[in-house]
Amino acid sequence: MSFERTQEKLKILADAAKYDVSCSSSGSNRSNINKGLGDATGMGICHSYTEDGRCVSLLKILLTNHCIFDCAYCVTRKSNDIKRAAFKVQEVVDLTINFYRRNYIEGLFLSSGIFKSADYTMERLVAVAKKLRLEENFNGYIHLKSIPGASDELMKEAGLYADRLSVNIEIPTKEGLKLLAPEKNREDFLKPMRKVQNEIIQYQAEKKIIKSTPKYAPAGQSTQMIIGASGESDQQIMWTSNYFYKNFNLKRVYYSGYIPISYDSRLPQIGTDVPMLRENRLYQTDWLMRFYGFEVHEILNNEHQNLDLDVDPKLGWALRNLQYFPIDVNKADRLMLARIPGLGMKSVHKIVQARQFRKLNWDHLKRMGVALNRAKYFLVCDSRDFERRDLSGPQLKSIILQNSTSKYQKILSPQLNLFE
Ligand code: SF4
Repeated sequence: MSFERTQEKLKILADAAKYDVSCSSSGSNRSNINKGLGDATGMGICHSYTEDGRCVSLLKILLTNHCIFDCAYCVTRKSNDIKRAAFKVQEVVDLTINFYRRNYIEGLFLSSGIFKSADYTMERLVAVAKKLRLEENFNGYIHLKSIPGASDELMKEAGLYADRLSVNIEIPTKEGLKLLAPEKNREDFLKPMRKVQNEIIQYQAEKKIIKSTPKYAPAGQSTQMIIGASGESDQQIMWTSNYFYKNFNLKRVYYSGYIPISYDSRLPQIGTDVPMLRENRLYQTDWLMRFYGFEVHEILNNEHQNLDLDVDPKLGWALRNLQYFPIDVNKADRLMLARIPGLGMKSVHKIVQARQFRKLNWDHLKRMGVALNRAKYFLVCDSRDFERRDLSGPQLKSIILQNSTSKYQKILSPQLNLFE
C-alpha cells in the first residue's frame, strides 16, 4: 500500500470520525506491562480538544465509511455521495503504533460504518485491538465502538482488549429513531450495552476472588446522542440519559449538537446553526445529575421542558425555587450547599472543612473561590446581609445577567464550560 493511498484513507476516515464526540479517555487504569508501548494510567488529564470541541489526543478514525444503513443524520449513510475508503486491520495497527512512537497520540479511538453486517464489522474492530495488545504489546488507551447488533461473543472479546466500549444510541427517542433511521432497532443498541455491562460486573466480581482475572473494559462504557436533529425536548433527552446511567451504569453520556449535512425535509436545513449552547447546557445538567444530587424532574418538567439558554441550569433551578434560599453556609448540609449557584463541589468541601474551626463570612468565602457575584443572592453567612431578599426570580435573573455580561451574554465557546 503506497504512502499516498494510506494518507488519502486517513484523511477520509479521520474526517468521517469527527462527528463522534464520545472519545474522552478518562477513567482507565491500564498501566504499562512487560516494557510494552504506552500507558493509559492517568489518561483522564491528557485529552485535548480542537477548536470545535472535539477530542484529538487519540488517533480517531473509522475503520471504514462504507455502510449498509441509511441513517438520515449521518454523513456516512449509504445514499450520501461521498468518497469511501476502508482500512485493513493491519493498517490501523501500523498507524497506531507509528503515531504513538512519534508522540502524536496517546491511544486509539476506532469506530466504523457497518459493512456487510454488524458481526463482520465488529470482528475487525476487535481484531485491531487484539493485535495491538497481543502482538504489539500496546498498553495505550483503546476506545472501540460497539456495533449495534453485534453478537455477545464478539462483545465479550472486545472488552478484553479495549479500555472503553461505547454504542451510540444517536437519537434520544424511539420515535425520532424510527423517523430518521427506520432500518434501526433500539434493541440492537441495548443488546451489546447489556452484554458489556454484565461482563464488567462479572469480571469485577471474579477479580476480587482471583487476582489474575484480566481487566474487562476498565474505563466502562459510554454513549452519544445527537441533539437537535429530531425535535426532542431537553426533558426527553435528559430522561433518556437518566435511563442509561441508571440501567446500564454508563460512565458518560455525550451530547453532540446536530451539524446539518443534508437536504432532507425530516432534518434541520443546511445552514441552520449547530446548537452548541444547548449542547453545553445539557452537559451542565448531566453534571448536576451525576455530581450534585439533582433529579431530572427538578430541572426539567412539564412546565419547563427546555433549559434556559441564558443561565446555567443550577441558577435556573434556584431562580424558580427561591423558597429554599437563602441557605446558611455555616449550617447547611453538603447537598444544600451544592445547590447554591456559584458554589462548586470543591468550594462545598472547603466550606465544610473550614466551618469546623470558625464561622465563615464573605471574605472567607471569597478566598475559597466562591463566585460571590451569583452566590451572594442565595446564601447567608457571618457577615451583614448586603443583598435584598425581596426580589422575584425574574428580577434576580435580570440583575445577575446585567452584572455578568461576559459569562452569560456572550455565546459560549464550544469547549465545555462547566459551572463552578
Ligand atoms: S449505521 Fe452508523 S455509520 Fe451507518 S449510516 Fe447509520 S449512523 Fe451512519
